[in-house]
Formats: sequence, C-alpha cells, structure tokens
Amino acid sequence: MKKIKQRFFFCPMCGGVLNYRYYQGQPRLTCDSCTYIMYENPVVGVAAIIVNDEDQILLGRRKGGQYAGLWCIPCGYVEYDEDVYHAVKREIKEETNLDIEVIRVFTVQSNFHDPEHQTVGIWFLSRVTGGEPAAGDDLDEVKYFNLDQLPMMSFPTDLVVIQCLRKELHRRRAGLRSV
Ligand SMILES: [Zn+2]
Repeated sequence: MKKIKQRFFFCPMCGGVLNYRYYQGQPRLTCDSCTYIMYENPVVGVAAIIVNDEDQILLGRRKGGQYAGLWCIPCGYVEYDEDVYHAVKREIKEETNLDIEVIRVFTVQSNFHDPEHQTVGIWFLSRVTGGEPAAGDDLDEVKYFNLDQLPMMSFPTDLVVIQCLRKELHRRRAGLRSV
C-alpha cells in the first residue's frame, strides 16, 4: 500500500474508525462501520503578485508557526463557499492592508512542500487600487524587494513563481510582450 501518513482517524459521518483500503486503485480512508470513503483533496490557496514601478515585488514576513521570520508572496486560503477572486482580495486586504484588483491569473501550481498539508495555489497578477502597505493577520512586515535580492523565502513554490516573473519582466523590458 502506498505510504500515506494517516491524518484522520474517525468517520465524519458516523464516528467509526477510518482505515486505508484500496478503492479504484488508490488507498482511501474508509470507515469500518458505514463504509463511507473520506476523500483527501488539496486545499486551495490564493496569492497576489504585486509589482511596483521599479519592478520590485511585495513580500510579507510570516509571524507565526513553522515559517516564522521567513517571507512569502502575500497569500491565504479560500474559504468554503467563497469565490477565488473574492478570496484573493480579502486575503490581501487582511495581510497587507492593500485593496487590489486582479489583472489575470499568473500561474497555478501544486504545493507539496508540506506532505501533510498539500495545497493548490493560484497566483494572481494584481495591481493596487487603494490603501497603504501595513502587515496584518499572518504577517508582521510587508516590503517590496528586488527580484534578484530576495530575503529567505518560506515556500519553494514562490521561488518557482518568481523565476517565471523574472522571465516575464525581462521579456516586457525587451518589448516583446506586456505583463
Ligand atoms: Zn462511518
């Protein structure tokens, strides 16, 4: 059986014991009592790429948990029943005090760096429409950084995204394509 660390132990339907059993070729958490299958899916995260006139990117320093003191592209989780475009505006307001509008989806990536908490991230290219930068919620500082002088970053996928951004800004400067 594929090695998966069990994270859930009781059936959300009946309280029975969950165990991994193969179902359609995949190990699935299955209730011993009522046979309910609890599917494990990644959580959806949203992040805003905000670039200033000097081609610097806005980053936030995380203030708690295992990533305290490390920086990330401002981000957060989509609430159940919440539209992703609403979620990114809400999270960025909470974390940076900035009002933003989305220009477009920049990229979508799977995040596997925390095996017990896997997510799918949507990075939105965004522009500021109001507010002054001020850290809130999960962040204790927000600051613009040159793309080639980044601080210690918390999430490896942010580095992949920033590398894509470097290439895109380079193409834009070369007049080949607008961001
Ligand atoms: Zn059950």
